Amino acid sequence: MEKYTFRAMELHDSTQIWNLDEIRKRLDFMVKNHMNALVFHEPGIEDKIVFPAKFLGGSGEPDSYYDAFLEVDHAILYHALRENLNLNRRDYMNHVIREAKEAGVQIFFENKELWFSDFILKYKKELMQDGVICPSDPFWYEEFLPYKYKELFLALPDLGGIVCSIGTGEARLAISNTFACGCERCRHLDPVEWYKNMIMAMYKPFHEAGKKLIIRDFIYTKEEQERFKTAFNAMPEDIVLSLKNTPHDFYPTFPDNPLMGQVDPHPQITEYDVNGQFFGWGAQPSAMLKDIRRRLKYGSEHHVTGFLARTDWEGVQDWTCFDNLNMVNLYAIAAYAENENVREEEIYLKWLQGEHMLQEDLLPGELKRCVEDVAEIMNATWPIVEKTNFVNGCLFSNDSCMHLTPEQFTFIGGTHHSLSEWDPEKKDALAMTPENIRSILADKDEARLRCEELADRVAGRNMGLTEKAYEQMREHFEFMRWYVRGFRLTARGYCFGRYVTEADPQDVIAEGRTAAQLLNETIREMEEYREALIKTDFIGRYPFDAQLNPERVLFYTNALKRMAREMCEERGVI
Ligand SMILES: [Zn+2]
Repeated sequence: MEKYTFRAMELHDSTQIWNLDEIRKRLDFMVKNHMNALVFHEPGIEDKIVFPAKFLGGSGEPDSYYDAFLEVDHAILYHALRENLNLNRRDYMNHVIREAKEAGVQIFFENKELWFSDFILKYKKELMQDGVICPSDPFWYEEFLPYKYKELFLALPDLGGIVCSIGTGEARLAISNTFACGCERCRHLDPVEWYKNMIMAMYKPFHEAGKKLIIRDFIYTKEEQERFKTAFNAMPEDIVLSLKNTPHDFYPTFPDNPLMGQVDPHPQITEYDVNGQFFGWGAQPSAMLKDIRRRLKYGSEHHVTGFLARTDWEGVQDWTCFDNLNMVNLYAIAAYAENENVREEEIYLKWLQGEHMLQEDLLPGELKRCVEDVAEIMNATWPIVEKTNFVNGCLFSNDSCMHLTPEQFTFIGGTHHSLSEWDPEKKDALAMTPENIRSILADKDEARLRCEELADRVAGRNMGLTEKAYEQMREHFEFMRWYVRGFRLTARGYCFGRYVTEADPQDVIAEGRTAAQLLNETIREMEEYREALIKTDFIGRYPFDAQLNPERVLFYTNALKRMAREMCEERGVI
């Protein structure tokens, strides 16, 4: 069993990274909850600090950050004026690093490679051929990465290091883009060699400056994971591996990441998304205490010595767990990483106290009852969310938003984010047999029933919270009602729509009715749902109206109508 010594929080929202008040709020939490690393996740964040001067005509060997700047200040003025602002952003960042250090916290950047400014193409014209930039050109690992990071550590000497995704299509340029470049080298490229070259190119300046290089696994299939493991294990052992708790992405229904424990003696850290890109962003609450505890335990049994709690997501602006009830998950991960036997109610109490949510004049007995109530209510959320945002464990949402069409779910939940890739028993999870459909419908009905009861309970009585905290809780549970109702309908539409397309629409498949009847009924229900949703206070308020966007409901309903129309025209069913 390992101890969690690297205790990190990831801040993803690029507007918040550059907001000192927000940073102080985070640091305050970290001091009180014994965390020691703050990670700023913004692709290209290093480009807001480095020039890099070498590629604007510099010597490649500056002694300091200002030396680098003076080598190219004219070139910046003529070719890359935005880089002029880097000096000021560097001052801000060094200030943040200093304040954090006083709070016992190291600052890290999290980025994606390859990332670069356009003037690189002026420096190295051969990179671009036929309008495509070549990712396999040795320039990237021989010149670009070693110099860029050398300059970064001159600029920010007390930065802890970098958490980096290499090879993801989310970077500006990656191995996954080689299909776009038709050059001889790209066509014969061994991906393992490419990863190795890129990581080793970064490693040199990190090693020299004494910084931590943390590489993320960004992997979609088992085969890719095997290739990555082979490449990674051949590298210097002080390179850290950062693993999502689950393979592919942060899906609580997925098994543990099989790469964990496979890369000794490299240090490993595990990432956990506490706000829930895939379980409702905290707009609908989802307390993950049991899952967090179990995942951390699994990690420590597999030589994991650090955790990285992701508090937001780049796809949702100005919204983090600090704005909602999923904040309890952040308290939980900090607490469990320190002591896996801490009682749940202690975590809830720490959260309620830490966020000033408790009424001040509660008698001791009232306080005890309040914490027990809140714990019961919050613990009941994930079992509902699991039956709402997932269908038989498969991801049934578009980053927690409703799908636009049923086909989109088949692609995202069935293929692109395939559960069966990692759990072969789930290969029939989306088979549209009447039995499977009835089981899916039962899950959705159960989620709705439990959610209505839970939201009624919250609305019924303030259990001892301040008025503000109680109002926030009530509101999120009211939203959850709408959320669960809506996802129940889209799941029903998915099953019936697919059934009439793939089998006989006249089959009686559930609730004593035919697939055709059920599909038409669902279309009507979705229209009524949308009408009612529009009248709620949630529409017009972010991020509620992004997550339950009525435009998405309309789109989905229209897709079901298209399926019903095809059923009539092609199969003669009315
Ligand atoms: Zn190429």
